Amino acid sequence: MRLSHSLVPTLKETPTEAQIVSHRLMLRAGLVRQTAAGIYAWLPAGLRVLQKVARIVREEQDAAGAQELLMPTIQPAELWRESGRYEDYGKEMLRLKDRHERDLLYGPTNEEMITDLFRQSVRSYRALPQILYHIQWKFRDEVRPRFGVMRGREFLMKDAYSFDIDYAGAVASYRRMMLSYMRTFRRMGLKAIPMQAESGPIGGNMSHEFIILAPTGESAVYYDAAFEEIDYSASGFDIFSEADLDRFFGLVTTHYAATDEKHDPAAFAALAAGRRREGRGIEVGHVFYFGTKYSTAMGFAVAGPDGRPVAPEMGSYGIGVSRLVGALIEAFHDEAGIIWPDAVAPFRAAILNLKAGDPACERMAEDLYGKLAPSVLYDDREERAGVKFADADLMGHPWQLIVGPRGAARGQVELKRRASGERQELSLDSALAQIV
Ligand code: ATP
Ligand code: MG
Repeated sequence: MRLSHSLVPTLKETPTEAQIVSHRLMLRAGLVRQTAAGIYAWLPAGLRVLQKVARIVREEQDAAGAQELLMPTIQPAELWRESGRYEDYGKEMLRLKDRHERDLLYGPTNEEMITDLFRQSVRSYRALPQILYHIQWKFRDEVRPRFGVMRGREFLMKDAYSFDIDYAGAVASYRRMMLSYMRTFRRMGLKAIPMQAESGPIGGNMSHEFIILAPTGESAVYYDAAFEEIDYSASGFDIFSEADLDRFFGLVTTHYAATDEKHDPAAFAALAAGRRREGRGIEVGHVFYFGTKYSTAMGFAVAGPDGRPVAPEMGSYGIGVSRLVGALIEAFHDEAGIIWPDAVAPFRAAILNLKAGDPACERMAEDLYGKLAPSVLYDDREERAGVKFADADLMGHPWQLIVGPRGAARGQVELKRRASGERQELSLDSALAQIV
């Protein structure tokens, strides 16, 4: 993209409405704009990040054997009357009527719809287990939308649903999704800690929230230092081996970790003092087992091995895709702006032409752009060098290719790594070789 002809409205001043750093930087770096309370337009650079986050989520869901489908955002109220949630959901649900006065709603989640799709065509236990997911916009009329995309009203979620014939199968699906989540967040450079969460009416220990540590997080969290030391996703587990999944689940749940809702001060106090960690965290994912709640309520059963009807066991697994963009910025920034991890950066690099109009600089910058487009942003604006440096730091490109008259005359470009601030003078070829 050529910045001179792009909708990337960076701001020098800090917007007053934004209370936390990720919200401020998302506005300042021109990633999003609010169109109504808690509802955002994703501008070109922001959308690129959102899509990269979604792609990592998708790849890891696929690698765990989940199938992608796409359910609509608008749902009929009847389905939710069957489960009993139409009334229960309360004011967070956005309710609509069509021209025939039929009740519709903008989906806050999809348990009812996926159960309905399953019951229409799955008849036998032989077709189970299955996990399905989609990445789709949700609407929840939050009382207090705030912190930008972190607590929006319209937000992008990956939600997966597992169907198993028995409890043992449901446990395996649950653990598989947990491992897949650890890998997903890891690939984005994030350390997510699974913490026991409220498990609802079914009880048990099969509800975990995945928490990213950040001082601005909405929940207080308490955990064992082990989570800072060990990468539980990297131990060569086979995600399709039940023995490996057991081992993984054992490891990840041995150490204490809980949000304020489930915090057990006595258990926490029992940890060696040097291992107790307290902080705040952002919930980026939630995995949940709920047994036959929806299959039973909605009359969905399959023929079991002995021919008798069995209500499938289910779980649901959410990741806040749009919230993650904010959470990533909370985790990766400095005073100058965002520091994108390579895996999610909107642009791999920015080309800064420090002297627009200078023939040698133009030639070199165009040459680089020709080789790297469309994965880089070319700052070809007629702006002062200082403005270009500041905007590149603000936008957080992992690399900056700085083209100035002195270097251009010698066929050299300056390569800057945003994270370390390290700069090198290189030939074009060596610079290109470094950033791919
Ligand atoms: P919270 O406790 O933050 O309100 P929740 O428990 O209601 O979230 P889930 O139903 O578990 O959320 O949704 C799955 C994921 O979707 C959450 O882990 C979170 O990352 C994301 N999410 C939920 N609500 C929002 C929102 N209003 N804006 C952005 N992301 C959200
Ligand atoms: Mg939750």
